[in-house]
Parts: sequence; structure tokens; C-alpha cells
Amino acid sequence: MSARWIAETLHANEGLTTSFRADKILYEESTGQQELVIFDNPTFGRMMMLDGATQVTTSDEFIYHEMMTHVPVLAHGAVKSLLIIGGGDGGILREAARHKSIERITMVEIDPEVTAFSREHLPMVSAGAFDDPRLDLVFADGTKFVAETDQRFDVVIVDSTDPVGPGAVLFEEEFYRNAKRCLTEGGVLVTQNGVPFLQPGELTSSIGKFRRLFTDGSCYLATIPTYVGGPMAMGWATDNAALRFQGVEILHARFADAAFETRYYTPEVHAAAFALPRYVEKCFPTRV
Ligand code: SAM
Repeated sequence: MSARWIAETLHANEGLTTSFRADKILYEESTGQQELVIFDNPTFGRMMMLDGATQVTTSDEFIYHEMMTHVPVLAHGAVKSLLIIGGGDGGILREAARHKSIERITMVEIDPEVTAFSREHLPMVSAGAFDDPRLDLVFADGTKFVAETDQRFDVVIVDSTDPVGPGAVLFEEEFYRNAKRCLTEGGVLVTQNGVPFLQPGELTSSIGKFRRLFTDGSCYLATIPTYVGGPMAMGWATDNAALRFQGVEILHARFADAAFETRYYTPEVHAAAFALPRYVEKCFPTRV
């Protein structure tokens, strides 16, 4: 029987689809909120797609999860409470839980089925982090949570799907305004902000909103092979403008204190990730 190929259709409007051979399909159904498929691919390992967009693969997830988590946490330097919006597969949670200095981790995921299937079929991604006693796992829409909570967080990480389906609201100004409301003074908001080469408008829109709401709005880059189209932008917003320029020496000291191994993150990679090529800088709106 010929192999089944699963298409990533996120960039179909740009005239690009990529297909992954599915040697084994573990799950393919609607969760009621999203179309979820989990399958095995010979190169990328176990993969999860939501609504035709690659979410996580066991071969390269370490790049995304390390950079989305350790850059804001080590730049800030004194994170006690951290909020994850989305993140259903548990990868961000795993990396956040490695920081023993963090006292409280709240994770707000809209689709309990994503977390349930990830725990069953992608246990290596969360690596037991769902059992961390510091975790408060909330199943709700992230926009509602940030609008209503009276909790405050030093770092907010928006590990969302792309602005399609339930993730679309996580790219609106109202959400960013309320996410800022949840930050402690000098706290940092980081967002999954797409691949600028293919989704420049998404970055322009987010940075423009960041710059209306925060003192500093920018992004940093990391290249995740299965997020096709070149480096991916991680949105950065904070009222403490100095944090983006944290020096390598300080980052080394903080990383040493954190005392864990990584496969991608280093203090030098952290600092270099904020050096942006011209085509990415050109996505930034002129300061409003
Ligand atoms: N790393 C992936 C990426 O870069 O596209 C994202 C991974 S994670 C699976 C994305 C999560 O966001 C999903 O579990 C999805 O259910 C969740 N999500 C989407 N919209 C949401 C919302 N409005 N509130 C909370 N979680 C949401």
C-alpha cells in the first residue's frame, strides 16, 4: 500500500504546501475545536498538526521550546511566576519547569484534548512536567484568562497556534493589552509570531501593537526546520527596554546558576538571536 502523505497547508495562500510521509497515524480526529493529527515521520519523528499547521515534532521541538522559554526567563533574571498561554503539548512547560527558581507556573490551554493526546502520544515532549507541583493547569481561552485574572506574572509566553481558528484572538491588541495587565513591573511578553519570510504581515501587526502598548517591542529569531520558510520570529514586548540587550556575561552567570543542559540555547545564541536581518527589520512598522 502506498504511503500516506500529510500536507501542511498553513501557507497554501502563499502558494506553498509541504507534505510529510506518515508511516504511522496515531490519531486523526476533530477535538471539537481543532482538527488534530498525530503521526510518525522517518525524519522528524512523531509530529502533531492542528488545522493543517505543524505544531510540534520530536526531532526539532527542542529549538523552539528552549528559545521561547530561556530567552525571556534569563533576560529577566528573577522570574518567580510564569504564564503560558496555549502550549498544549507541554514543551514550554517542560523548559520552564527546569528553572528551579520559578515558584509558580500557570498554563492556560483552550483545548483539553490537545493536552490529553500530547500526554498519551507525545510524552517525551512534556517529559513529566504536567506533574510538576508548581503547575496550575487551566483549560480556558487565553484571552478570557488574561482579561479576568488577578494574578501577576514576570513572564508571559504565548505558545499559540497561528492566527487561524481559536488562535486568532491571541494576535489581537485587546489580548496583548490584557497580557500586559498581567505582567509584573518590567515583565516580559513573548509570542509565537510566525515565519517573517512567509508571514511578514503577522509580525508587522504584532510589533505595531507591542509598540503602542509597551516601551519596547521587537522580536528575536530561531530556525526550526519544520516551521518552513526560514527563521521564525518570537515576539518580544516589555517596558524594561534594557532586557533585550542583556549582556552575554550576565546571561552566562544566570545560565550557570540555572544549572541544566540545553541542546540549542546558549547565552551567545540568546544575544545573537536579537540581531535581525534587514528583511525582518523592514517588517517593523515605523514607531507610532
Ligand atoms: N509550537 C506551536 C507553534 O509554534 O505553532 C504551538 C504549539 S501548541 C500545540 C499551540 C496551542 O495553542 C494548542 O494546544 C492550541 O489548542 C492552543 N490555543 C489556540 N488558541 C488558544 C486560545 N485562544 N487560548 C488558549 N490556547 C489556545
